[in-house]
Amino acid sequence: DALPDRLQDTIRRRTEVLGPGYTLIYRTPVEFVSGHGAHLVDRDGNDYLDAYNNVPCVGHAHPHVVEAVTRQMSAVNINTRYVQDSLVDYAERLLATFPAELSKLSIACSGSEANDLAMRVARFHTGAEGIIVTRWAYHGITREVASFSPTLGAGSPLGPNVRLIDPPDPRLVAPGSTLADHMRAQVRGAIDDLERHGYRLAALVTDGAYSSDGIFTDPVGYLKAMVEEVHKAGGVYIADEVQSGFARLGESMWGFARHGVVPDIVTMGKPMGNGLPVSGVVFRPEVSDEFGRNVRYFNTFGGSSIPVAAAAAVLDVFEQENVQQCVLENGTALRAGLEEITRESPYVAEVRGSGLYVGIELVKDRETREPDRALAEDVINDLRDRRVLISGTARGANVLKIRPPLAFDAADVTRFLETFAQVAQDRL
Ligand code: PMP
Repeated sequence: DALPDRLQDTIRRRTEVLGPGYTLIYRTPVEFVSGHGAHLVDRDGNDYLDAYNNVPCVGHAHPHVVEAVTRQMSAVNINTRYVQDSLVDYAERLLATFPAELSKLSIACSGSEANDLAMRVARFHTGAEGIIVTRWAYHGITREVASFSPTLGAGSPLGPNVRLIDPPDPRLVAPGSTLADHMRAQVRGAIDDLERHGYRLAALVTDGAYSSDGIFTDPVGYLKAMVEEVHKAGGVYIADEVQSGFARLGESMWGFARHGVVPDIVTMGKPMGNGLPVSGVVFRPEVSDEFGRNVRYFNTFGGSSIPVAAAAAVLDVFEQENVQQCVLENGTALRAGLEEITRESPYVAEVRGSGLYVGIELVKDRETREPDRALAEDVINDLRDRRVLISGTARGANVLKIRPPLAFDAADVTRFLETFAQVAQDRL
């Protein structure tokens, strides 16, 4: 679609007032005025298939969420210093989706705030400072969290207390070894290096989908070995479920559950309120109680009535619409279709993922696996021109990132695969 003059003018004014940090996706940027399910509609009434946005998990403008938020807005919005049933009810419901050991909830407004609090608690509990994350991880925007978010690049330095390890990419495992042994050795090596530089370990933090590393969800099971090493060194394990939580990976509500481990701290955000800013941190009480007794943590908006109403409505829809099962079924069909379409392509190194999170790694050559960023950009933009929205990820920006609202249904899968096949014919 050609860019109308009006949109060009808005983009020019946008750069004028917001500055260069506010980038847009797609060569031909797009504007939306409404949405429903996994669909977005532009000003001319054109329907786009949203295969990218994870925040509106139960669907854009879901009527049950809209109704719950509207009702709460017309009643009252108060903070956590007043008693409110709805907050307690929500905390009980959310915690019921966790193993019994994880029994305390703090509420904040963004994934970054959740990770910031998680790390403060980890530091307080361990009295240590060392942090381990994966090589191309993203955990958020506060100064502390940015210091352990290597994706932010050279302009945003990593802390001297931060060490990077491989993501769980089975292709990195030496012949004769296992992914568990490889990941254990990665963690052990990072702990040794921290100690050599005078840092004891505070925490290992991993994104349950390794989204920015390039999406590595399978095989599962190696996490236990990593957490064992962390605990031996006196650290805690923080599972960042901002991407992988709320049934995104299909098989369970939380990514860590697929590995059969119980983290010390879990953080979550994005889909939690279907678009209202609400995030959470779930703790083992033995990790968080001392912090709670000694450090005042009051978050003005975190846990206030309106975002909590949205979050509770999301859980209602999860139950009413059997969301997790749908994710599993539609995700499996989506991945199978994509594998079929790309099987013969010399430029597709791998189709991977779980539930409604799929990564397609595009390379110049299947043998060398040299990333092909330009090809990924072409595919993403060709899809956009056919009104299907995805984006890219990984250090080489060469992994197609397909991560629709969880409301993505069987008809959406069919439309996605048909459109993808057309683009693949030209490009892959
Ligand atoms: N952790 C992960 C894994 C994320 O993907 C993000 C956001 N992309 C964050 C944390 C930060 O969340 P927010 O943008 O809500 O601060």
